[in-house]
Amino acid sequence: MGKAALAIRKNIAVIKDFPIKGISFQDIFSITRKPEIFKLIIQEIIKVIKKHKITTIVGIESRGFLFGAVAAYKADLPLIPIRKSGKLPGKITKVKYKLEYGHDIVEIQSSVVKKSDNILLVDDLIATGGTALASVKLLRKFNSKQINSFFVIDLENLKGSDKLKNQGIKIHSLYKTDG
Ligand code: AMP
Repeated sequence: MGKAALAIRKNIAVIKDFPIKGISFQDIFSITRKPEIFKLIIQEIIKVIKKHKITTIVGIESRGFLFGAVAAYKADLPLIPIRKSGKLPGKITKVKYKLEYGHDIVEIQSSVVKKSDNILLVDDLIATGGTALASVKLLRKFNSKQINSFFVIDLENLKGSDKLKNQGIKIHSLYKTDG
């Protein structure tokens, strides 16, 4: 386990039965409160950006914005948000996806992603992968071929990362644990 993963494992607060019974909530803010660990995480994102010659950061609402924004600033790259329904102005492209109960929608501003962009999709955590997979579908509407993804935490037993792998997406995650 790398330095960042060890630091996350040691310091992350896990809150049982939040926001609903049965969920062990990985509180990423217990990590952002520790600047030295936050910095380690950003350094790992920068390594991925350099290695894969990333040109565009796409952050998933809302905790993906925290890490995506700092990495974009550090690497001098554009930051594009993927948001939940009804929050982005102008012409919008959307994907509806299934939740355990009901549906959700992710949206992006149309025509901001170019086919030639080499994208890094960023979120704090991947669980079942529903949100990330819908985000990939959204990007693919713009014919994006080169998509890497970065998650600070991967709840491996929930198999979300497998869903992305099956779509040909490369996954970079720091701390792998069970959800
Ligand atoms: P999923 O679509 O199931 O992969 O869920 C991913 C999104 O839900 C991420 O944006 C996470 O921030 C949040 N999430 C899901 N499960 C957890 C968890 N156990 N702890 C913290 N955040 C979670």
